[in-house]
Amino acid sequence: MYPGLPEPPPPGTAMLPPGAFAGVTVFITGGGTGLGRAMAAEFARCGAAVAIASRDAGHRERGVAEVRSAGGAAIGVPCDVRDPAAIRAAFDAAEEALGPVTVLVNNAAANFPIAAADLSPNGWRAVTDIVLDGTFLCSQELHRRCTTRQSPGAILNILATQALTGGPGMSHAAAAKAAVGNLTKSLAVEWAPDGIRVNALAPGLFPHEDMREDLKALRPSPDTDATRQPALRTGRRHELGWAATYLCSPYAAFLTGHTLVIDGGNHLRRDFVMPPHTPIREQLPPRG
Ligand code: NAP
Repeated sequence: MYPGLPEPPPPGTAMLPPGAFAGVTVFITGGGTGLGRAMAAEFARCGAAVAIASRDAGHRERGVAEVRSAGGAAIGVPCDVRDPAAIRAAFDAAEEALGPVTVLVNNAAANFPIAAADLSPNGWRAVTDIVLDGTFLCSQELHRRCTTRQSPGAILNILATQALTGGPGMSHAAAAKAAVGNLTKSLAVEWAPDGIRVNALAPGLFPHEDMREDLKALRPSPDTDATRQPALRTGRRHELGWAATYLCSPYAAFLTGHTLVIDGGNHLRRDFVMPPHTPIREQLPPRG
């Protein structure tokens, strides 16, 4: 019996000193669901005010409720990250309610499993527009505001380990995330003189209740998630929250252009003898 990697301290445990983000406003795209909401809660626990930016009012409400229950001030701001005018309006609304935004988490994403040969131009653009263009446009907005005010800032881009390995069956999302990883490095160098740090976080599998049905369906059963990882467990959402807050905190003041992978080593996995290969098309449900 192997123990696997140990569990982290429980949710709610402080990782940074209390008030590490006091007086800071954090803008999180897609902060109303899943991992975005978990990161929002952790920023709030550290004293931040949080703007939850996304398209769906119900999602935003859930994000705001979670931040408030973690002790932070929050506002939901309607935002489609593909639209520069909507991003500007969302930052304006966030700043009017909570004060100047100096931390941005580019977490919003879209993804759906499909064989590359079957992917339509619209399907390709739907994902790359949100993941790559959305990240760039929001980052530019934060940079514009911070440089106008001559204030330091921090940007965190949420990738996926597919950005490092490729993602058969998810070629659109993997390519877009890899491009964001590259963008992270360019912006880190361009914007360091302006006092703005740009880092990335690449999560492995972090199951949560908002996970889309088509993504859930790719897993044979949630019960076997743990045994399919070298760590013998999946990621806990608050672990991601700790990583996100650290990378945006003053304790990471000299850290920029970095991608932190948090996946229990899963993307490095390689067996001596690989299992027989099942073509991606056969792993996906039949197309209707
Ligand atoms: P999720 O629950 O599906 O969250 C995606 C979020 O993006 C939603 O809140 C959605 O909000 C928002 N969004 C989508 N399109 C948008 C747009 N055009 N404008 C503004 N917001 C938009 O996914 P998740 O699992 O929490 O993933 C969060 C991040 O972690 C993503 O970047 C994902 O790629 C990454 N990740 C997750 C895992 C995992 O195991 N869960 C693993 C690796 C990487 P609205 O619908 O309200 O707009």
